[in-house]
Amino acid sequence: MTKSIYPAYPPDLSDEQAQFLLTNLKDWSIAHGLAVRPAPSFVSQSQDPTGVLATSAPVTLFPSPFPRHCYEEGLAIQKAYNELYSAIARDEEWLKTVVEELAGVDDFVAKLWQIHLEVKREGYVQDLTLGLFRSDYMVHVDPKEADAKPEIKQVEFNTIASSFGGLSSKVSEMHKYLLSIDAYPPQATPIIKQDSLPQSKSVPSLAAGLAASHRAYGSSRSSHPLCVLFVVQGPERNVFDQRHLEYSLLAENGVRSFRVPFHKILSDTKLDSERNLIYSPPHAVGQSYEVTTIYYRAGYTPDDYAGEEEWTARLHLERSRAIKCPSILTHLAGCKKVQQVLATPHSPHLARFVPDEATAKRLLKTFAPIYPLDKSEAGLEARRLATDVGSASRYVLKPQREGGGNNIYRASIPPFLEKLAETNWPAYILMEMIEPPALNNVIIRNGEVQKGGVIGELGVYGVCLWRSGGQILENWEAGYLLRTKGDQSEEGGVAAGFGAVDSCCLI
Ligand code: ADP
Ligand code: MG
Ligand code: MG
Repeated sequence: MTKSIYPAYPPDLSDEQAQFLLTNLKDWSIAHGLAVRPAPSFVSQSQDPTGVLATSAPVTLFPSPFPRHCYEEGLAIQKAYNELYSAIARDEEWLKTVVEELAGVDDFVAKLWQIHLEVKREGYVQDLTLGLFRSDYMVHVDPKEADAKPEIKQVEFNTIASSFGGLSSKVSEMHKYLLSIDAYPPQATPIIKQDSLPQSKSVPSLAAGLAASHRAYGSSRSSHPLCVLFVVQGPERNVFDQRHLEYSLLAENGVRSFRVPFHKILSDTKLDSERNLIYSPPHAVGQSYEVTTIYYRAGYTPDDYAGEEEWTARLHLERSRAIKCPSILTHLAGCKKVQQVLATPHSPHLARFVPDEATAKRLLKTFAPIYPLDKSEAGLEARRLATDVGSASRYVLKPQREGGGNNIYRASIPPFLEKLAETNWPAYILMEMIEPPALNNVIIRNGEVQKGGVIGELGVYGVCLWRSGGQILENWEAGYLLRTKGDQSEEGGVAAGFGAVDSCCLI
């Protein structure tokens, strides 16, 4: 195991203690929907022909130690990050300069931009946009300073389909429960205490964001009742994560929602003459709804666009009068290239969107060094770093993609670039690896217990509702997520099979 900065954490357990903890974890997680549909490799079609089975989501046995001031700073700056990204999404001219650099080398980005232009030509009929964002961080300790304090550095900012808000609330609840029934042994309780385990409010808070958008839409113009539409992938293993938001939207806000797979959009929805989006559920013949808010949990990856039909579906949705979560411009604002441009040293970009100097300074402190791979001076230096095996080991190479599994890490970068035509290099950005302090934990995945060195990633959710003219109607921080992966894995995605859902034990 890695030499952790908390060597006694997590404590060793006797067989009986481990058994007690695991039994409680397994039962609590299923009883409360801290669950996923099983992977086909785990349960075959013949074992579960009707798709009725669910299994506990990958989780950590113990909450992971996380510096309190880092957690507090991440939550405190979320509203500023919401404002920043909503301002970027409103600044078409600025975004155009970024997108133009990518359009020639990234087909997906180019197609999204084309959709924006097509709707713009016709005229947008909705000036409200909803963002359910998640800003992701790792803890960084400056190796050059002897007494350096840990600080958070941003991994990325998600503007579309930010996931795990549903399961995150549940896992922090579960860790609190395990503590309350004394499932953690006494030697752990000086560290794990009820007041060091913050409850993530992501479920009610993200659902309240959807409800705020639903209300801001106004009354029905089509005489059909109103609803929110979750546009989803099918099949979706992480369905319960989304279901928690749906249930909270109904139970706490009285808002009806439906789930529609992306490939069913064109058959199940229509635009009326005013471009109201009308959804006719196939199960309820003769009943239709007017959609107030389109919540995309699909459409963020090229894999969701099998052919022209899906692109037609995206255009169809964007043309509608429904509020988009997110709009195309907001989706594009989440490109890693945007993050890189913002992080350019001494650039005027951040000040353009965040005029308040103190706020801009606080955001800037969370940026890690990121470089373009173009022909600029910084780009040429980055090319040198990325093609040398010695220096490349400190970096990660990222394309403009979401959902995990797309990056190239460290020593794999030079051979990857060697095979890639140089004209395509600007489609990527080069980012310095953040190296968090060593920690240990236990991950439970498919019932298997994996103990060892881990790396945590804090995600902070944000809700923002704004008008294209600039008025911000709603802006709040919406809870947190901690994802933890084995320190041998570079990727952190839980759904992609690399990580586990965790909660913070503040220290
Ligand atoms: P995606 O949008 O696909 O989630 P990310 O930028 O979040 O892309 O990268 C995926 C994973 O790669 C992260 O969850 C994290 O584990 C790892 N990663 C990305 N950037 C860095 C970095 N600068 N330092 C350390 N790990 C990183
Ligand atoms: Mg990520
Ligand atoms: Mg992402």
